[in-house]
Amino acid sequence: MTDNLWSTEGSVGRCSVCGRETELVGLPGKRDKYCLGCSGDLATADLLITEIDAATFAGRNTNALISEFEEIGSRMLHRAQSAEQGI
Ligand SMILES: [Zn+2]
Repeated sequence: MTDNLWSTEGSVGRCSVCGRETELVGLPGKRDKYCLGCSGDLATADLLITEIDAATFAGRNTNALISEFEEIGSRMLHRAQSAEQGI
């Protein structure tokens, strides 16, 4: 294994979402840190939730927003599964 090869500089750790050990970034308003991929998806998911709420409140169709949200969810799930398999 290459466990002891990566640098301890920066904020390397385990992503709270997918479990990968990699460079982590924080998101505003969140205590946990995530890998680059998950932090991007989470930020987008947060935006989508806000948009879905606003669209629901305004009585607009939310199907496109919800399908986009589900796509992000399945992408994060896939990332977590491939991390478990050590890919
Ligand atoms: Zn991640």
